[in-house]
Amino acid sequence: MTVLSKKPADLAIEARWIIPVRPERTYLENQTVLIDQDRIVAIGSMDQLENEFEIQKKIYLKDHALIPGLINTHSHVGMTLFRGIADDVPLMKWLNDYIWPAEKALISERFVQDSSLLGCAEMLAGGVTTFNDMYFFPDGAADAVKIAGIRAYLGMVVLEFATPYARDAEDYIQKGLTLRDRFRADALIRFNFAPHAPYTVSDQTFEKIMTYAEQLNLGIHTHLHETADELDVSLSQYGARPIHRLAHLGVLGPNLLAAHCVHMNDQDIQALAYHGVSVAHCVSSNLKLASGIAPIRQMMAAGINVALGTDSAASNNRQDIFSELRMAALLSQGVTGIAGSIDAWQAIEMATLHGAKAIGAEHEIGSIEPGKFADLVAIRLNDLEVMPYFDPVSHVVYTLGREQVSHVWVGGDLRFTRSDIQSGVFANIEPSELREIVLKWQPKLNPYKR
Ligand SMILES: [Zn+2]
Repeated sequence: MTVLSKKPADLAIEARWIIPVRPERTYLENQTVLIDQDRIVAIGSMDQLENEFEIQKKIYLKDHALIPGLINTHSHVGMTLFRGIADDVPLMKWLNDYIWPAEKALISERFVQDSSLLGCAEMLAGGVTTFNDMYFFPDGAADAVKIAGIRAYLGMVVLEFATPYARDAEDYIQKGLTLRDRFRADALIRFNFAPHAPYTVSDQTFEKIMTYAEQLNLGIHTHLHETADELDVSLSQYGARPIHRLAHLGVLGPNLLAAHCVHMNDQDIQALAYHGVSVAHCVSSNLKLASGIAPIRQMMAAGINVALGTDSAASNNRQDIFSELRMAALLSQGVTGIAGSIDAWQAIEMATLHGAKAIGAEHEIGSIEPGKFADLVAIRLNDLEVMPYFDPVSHVVYTLGREQVSHVWVGGDLRFTRSDIQSGVFANIEPSELREIVLKWQPKLNPYKR
């Protein structure tokens, strides 16, 4: 006689709507996502899954949409305490007169850890389950990531000049590699190289980073073509636009994620498309610092993978991917004069699977598919201010905000919950304690504000 035993599963989440992102342009109604340990194991009806699996816990989300965790592909989470320090000034003045002096005086591993914890709390509560970061003292960011239980790709940041974090390019690289060794076996933290920008990194250092990145099979994350000024400086210093300089150095490739790409001519776009470079579109930051508007429709038409990034809380001032995806879709329609030039579906893809691809993680995150990490976000659709609803995809992009996020799972672990009548609850962060930490820093930040 054969005894049919059911397979074990930890959690089943049934939702009114599921937007799995793959297959494309599809949503499911009244279906269930089944999770065991940190992975999605199946998608189907609850009845079907109950026949096949011994399910430990079931959650029914009657008025919700379940989406993949959002991916923020360009952040500086250690700058979260600089939020609002200097608004309404252009990039170079913002850096020279406010941000760099404040960083010189204040940043330390402690500052970055406190700042990063605040940023991680903000992102988790806004449905971001993975962020790709670049900042000094990534050790502090790593510690905050472990407390919050969010997924992070931390940049081993490299510049030529000295900061409180490191002396020179070689020192930055070695500090980054040492930290990477410390977290080598970590489930949530991965690393890539983050040469800050073409205007702060020499040819020789780019070449050194390329060698390490190839040997260690790591991605590269940099700022690129953010301002018109950056192009002028590059033309006078190197006789080439930054993209062409990096192409010549062999930096352009599928493992490169370029943040911004605002000032782009046809040859720039063709070069990124040809080499398979991904772009982190940071629309709010580019608007706030008056840098311009990236031509994302043209870039996507050329085949470039375009994802979304918030940039820092000092230049946005929200680390909120819901507001970025809405802004990206609306602005593209406004500047092109074409309704649906970036439609709601494409905006969701930019915030999820395109983000995963940009950081080399498309086989692990970015869609709700069996085998991927259970990084999931539930959003309430029946709050009065967002009713009624018809198409869940367009509702997510044009109507909902991060305040409708009700549940956030990272690798199958519930990291944040919020009902409509109470403030949010984190698994490992006590909001009142975090508020005290922020208030402790605020007087120290005051001398540097605009
Ligand atoms: Zn940036």
